[in-house]
Amino acid sequence: MSITPSKNKTVLLTGVSGYIGKHVALQLLNRGYNVRASVRNLQKTEEVRKAILPHISDASQLDTRLTFVELDLEKDAGWTEALAGMDVLMHTASPFPIASPKDENILIKPAVEGTLRALKAAHKAGVKRVILTSSIAAIYGCNLPEGKTAFDESMWTDINHPVGKGAYVKSKTLAEKAAWDFIKNEAPEMELTVINPALVLGAPLDHQFGSSVSLVQRILAGSDPMLPDLQMFIVDVKDAAKMHVNAIEEKNSIGQRVLGFSEPMTFVDIAKLLKTSYPEYKVKTTKAPSFLIRLLALFNDEIKVILPLLGDRTPANNAKAKSLLHINFTPASASVKDTADYLIKNGFAGKNPK
Ligand code: NAP
Repeated sequence: MSITPSKNKTVLLTGVSGYIGKHVALQLLNRGYNVRASVRNLQKTEEVRKAILPHISDASQLDTRLTFVELDLEKDAGWTEALAGMDVLMHTASPFPIASPKDENILIKPAVEGTLRALKAAHKAGVKRVILTSSIAAIYGCNLPEGKTAFDESMWTDINHPVGKGAYVKSKTLAEKAAWDFIKNEAPEMELTVINPALVLGAPLDHQFGSSVSLVQRILAGSDPMLPDLQMFIVDVKDAAKMHVNAIEEKNSIGQRVLGFSEPMTFVDIAKLLKTSYPEYKVKTTKAPSFLIRLLALFNDEIKVILPLLGDRTPANNAKAKSLLHINFTPASASVKDTADYLIKNGFAGKNPK
């Protein structure tokens, strides 16, 4: 089934300066939506325009179709005015740093308060349709319920579970929970769809790529002597963006969380693929013995969080994204290679190929 783009609808898109946000803005514009994009500093507008422009199918009215407002997840200023007259709120902004901060509230506060700020302003402005970017992180931090063999959207991360304790995982879980609670208790007429992407990979639109792309950069550069035995579910950035855009018109997705990924790859799978595809790079493919990771975890809380996932190969279910949002997922290997191609072509793959 194909999705009919809705012309003359305007979407308030937060987080447009992000890796995923730029792809979402591009697809919205190419599908006929107008975009009022929020940045926390208006100085970023040129960066965003420059990243999107080469890929726009019709740039003729870009100045009126893509406009910018300044909004900070941690400040009240501007939210109500920004949402006035919008047809859709698409909230992707949330901090996603490479390393966890010492104080978890540096992530949790903007994630949770920002989500509520956006929803409350939308409610006040009479904007009913909301698409929120959550994460697989809000799903997999739990033990599988009895009788289940794969992670799916019915499961929630438990922030007291060892995996759920990580600052980022907690921030995404609490932010998504806050959104559902707000809709249930204060705005039942609002129409929320939550997108739960897995690890997002694929070519970024510019050099300001986020944490997930950095992971491929690290493996390609051979930065670590050994790799932990971890499985990552992977979704292409174009597919993740498409899930957001398709959700707008897909009424059956209202009230749903939708997990997005194509298939899992382990760190070692990714490294082996990179080594074969780019033999001139010093990619390391050795799996770290799990006892070593356990030892390191004694001194490092971030490593402690991944301990329960070591060697784990629990599958997950992406049927809803395929049936409800009509996504034909790009194979994970293609997303990994697109990421690496971008990094190499643009000089971000390390200076010491073999
Ligand atoms: P990113 O490139 O770091 O983008 C994060 C965006 O959030 C940026 O636009 C950033 O603005 C904005 N932001 C952060 N703190 C803010 C604040 N206090 N006020 C206003 N804006 C703020 O990360 P990404 O990978 O594109 O992630 C985008 C969304 O997808 C996030 O919600 C993330 O949790 C989710 N997600 C990502 C992945 C992944 O693998 N990449 C997977 C699942 C879910 P600045 O440019 O001003 O910093």
